[in-house]
Amino acid sequence: MAVSVLVTGGAGYIGSHACKALRNAGFEPITYDNLCTGWAEAVKFGPFEQGDLLDRARLDEVLAKHRPVAIMHFAALSQVGEAMREPGKYWRGNVSASLNLIEAAVAAGVKSFVFSSTCATYGDHDGVVLDENTPQTPLNAYGASKRAIEDMLKDFGASDGLSSVIFRYFNVAGADPDSEVGEFHQPETHLVPLILDAIDGKRPALTIHGTDYPTPDGTCIRDYVHVMDLVDAHVLGLRYLLDGKVAPGGHEVFCLGTGNGFSVREVIDHSRHVTNRPVPLTEGPRRGGDAVKLVSGSEKAISVLGWQPDRSTLPQMIGDAWRWHQNGGYER
Ligand code: UDP
Repeated sequence: MAVSVLVTGGAGYIGSHACKALRNAGFEPITYDNLCTGWAEAVKFGPFEQGDLLDRARLDEVLAKHRPVAIMHFAALSQVGEAMREPGKYWRGNVSASLNLIEAAVAAGVKSFVFSSTCATYGDHDGVVLDENTPQTPLNAYGASKRAIEDMLKDFGASDGLSSVIFRYFNVAGADPDSEVGEFHQPETHLVPLILDAIDGKRPALTIHGTDYPTPDGTCIRDYVHVMDLVDAHVLGLRYLLDGKVAPGGHEVFCLGTGNGFSVREVIDHSRHVTNRPVPLTEGPRRGGDAVKLVSGSEKAISVLGWQPDRSTLPQMIGDAWRWHQNGGYER
């Protein structure tokens, strides 16, 4: 029988792709999701247990039923704009919820934990390429909440022997090339799906948030990673933990980016080429909480985990997202 892994947020964008990668790697992904932003239809690769991370009794029940060997924790609120307006929602929904999950995991005897952290924990660093050792000075409650959860994992490692792999993601884009799952947020706030919406008339235009940044074309620079590459890294990180390569109670941090930065305007240009259609545009003010440039080195993930982010080119990510955009989507 396949070994179970509890996947929180398994009905969401990255979590659903992770479930597919886990299933393909021979694990049984158990999705735990409250469907507040996820989709029941996205749960295709293993059992679904609906539940909230703040519901400890439900968590205990699911952990006792499936006895997962590890937890992959994706469930989170992740919108920078919302985090600026409603920080309490982020401290409760990300930090309190994760504390509940970690305590339940420890009580159930789980020893391996894979955590989705973010480059938003870094804040602005004057355009330097970020790596695992860059100081974390987040600009918003989203980044601050994720940094707090990283700290929590280190503390529970020391107290209870919970070992963790922490991935700091850069900008995730693209979709499953088979279009079984893809990116579908409501409301949508992410650049690539919003560009595709503008291209096919689902929105009047894409608004560029800020054109006066100190970058060559005035727009923010991000490092885009294909969601399939990202979830491959999670399977490698899980194996790394299960093979005992992280000391009991230890943790290992990996940045998942490509080392290449692209401006908002460059992403728009690539989208125009890939779809062969115009992108209706408007220019708006800066969005609060946005860093100027977030680009990562990924040497550690490549050398230590053997990660190969081969699909993380803009044409491939936008092409896969466009195929999903035209064929996919979920219904409540
Ligand atoms: N962005 C934009 N218009 C939009 C959405 C996003 O100009 O409608 C910009 C945003 O300011 C940032 C980049 O695109 O510089 C990526 O934003 P996204 O929300 O996709 O990811 P984030 O960097 O916040 O994780």
